[in-house]
Amino acid sequence: MKKCEYCAKEISYHEMYCSDECQDGANKYYELREKYQKPYSIINGIFVIAVGICIFLYSFMRDVGAIGGGSALVILGIMYFLLPFAPDVMIHKYKLKKSILITKIIAAVVFAIGVTVLILYFTGVI
Ligand SMILES: [Zn+2]
Repeated sequence: MKKCEYCAKEISYHEMYCSDECQDGANKYYELREKYQKPYSIINGIFVIAVGICIFLYSFMRDVGAIGGGSALVILGIMYFLLPFAPDVMIHKYKLKKSILITKIIAAVVFAIGVTVLILYFTGVI
């Protein structure tokens, strides 16, 4: 059975989307992705590496490691939420609507971890 490319509802074989809303949703997603794919990849690459470096630095430069790593995670979380680009394999499996939701949940988790690191550092726990 063929499914709506956006919401995964079952549809007939000559359709791609079950409704205009789903088509609009998909168009918006792909427009956003086309527009911001490049800066997204660059920022993602830089900040993921930054998180790695900060984890390494934490063992001997606690302030730089904790503040830098926490801040980088907060920034990544915000970006993943505003630009919830999902891998194509995920979109293929879950369709767009669910993929965007999963990505936003991951974004919230990344953001929460970053905030937690900063709070723990500034309250003197770590
Ligand atoms: Zn649909």
